[in-house]
Amino acid sequence: MSPLKTLILGGTAEASDLAERVAGDARFEATISLAGVTKTPKRQALPVRIGGFGGADGLAEYLRVNAIQALIDATHPFAATISANAFAAAAKLGVPHLVVHRPPWTKVAGDKWIAVPTMRAAADALGRTRRRVFLTVGRKDLAPFVSAPQHHYVIRSVDAPPPETLPPDVLVITARGPFNEADEFALLDAHRIDVLVTKNSGGSAASAKLTAARARQIPVVMIERPPPPSGQQLGTAAAAFDWLVDRHHKLVSARRGV
Ligand code: NAP
Repeated sequence: MSPLKTLILGGTAEASDLAERVAGDARFEATISLAGVTKTPKRQALPVRIGGFGGADGLAEYLRVNAIQALIDATHPFAATISANAFAAAAKLGVPHLVVHRPPWTKVAGDKWIAVPTMRAAADALGRTRRRVFLTVGRKDLAPFVSAPQHHYVIRSVDAPPPETLPPDVLVITARGPFNEADEFALLDAHRIDVLVTKNSGGSAASAKLTAARARQIPVVMIERPPPPSGQQLGTAAAAFDWLVDRHHKLVSARRGV
């Protein structure tokens, strides 16, 4: 059996799910790559490499040196730089490339969403009057909220942000999803939240806060996604696994000359 040498760009639930499907399957020899942004990354079912590649050229070099035959970009919809690099590197070497791109959340009856294009616009949308804000945008994107110090913020992130990056009136909760509805209701109520700020990440791991906000009639400042990445896209880890099986089948057929 010729295993398909596969690189999965991770950092998402879909990437971990795909890693579990591929692990132990003799058709694949796969590695998952993490950026190294969280202090204690989730355990993965595959061998892990950690850290940036050094741009598109660095990633292309990694693909070449490791003779990668399939590149799966299962990074987060807001991770636009690595996705652009993956497309460019795969195109440069002719390596088959697939994006796992989860669908965005869509508004349903009862939602009070304020759609904004950027983090700066999200901070502006909070207005001048003091509000109690549940801020779930990740610890790299706090600067615009430091410039809106009139609000009380409850910030939830996997790792605590450095203190110097925080707005003055803040409570930090460190937690990793998935989050359930009961906990999200409890959080909104306990902290008397009157507005939620989130990226439109999509997926089920972080969607319970939207259900809770809808039920409590709390407005949601929804940061829209960057433009979708280039290349072939599928929405789930299961579909990506089928794509890999097909790539493996093609590899075996080519080796047999059929
Ligand atoms: P980004 O802005 O697109 O990428 C910044 C740089 O980080 C890339 O140029 C690359 O460095 C490195 N990098 C990113 N993902 C990598 C990976 N899987 N393996 C190796 N290097 C990687 O990405 P980001 O928004 O900072 O996100 C970083 C990671 O966190 C991603 O893996 C993403 O899936 C995950 N994540 C992001 C968010 C979010 O809201 N942005 C949310 C949840 C999870 P080089 O150029 O040196 O290769």
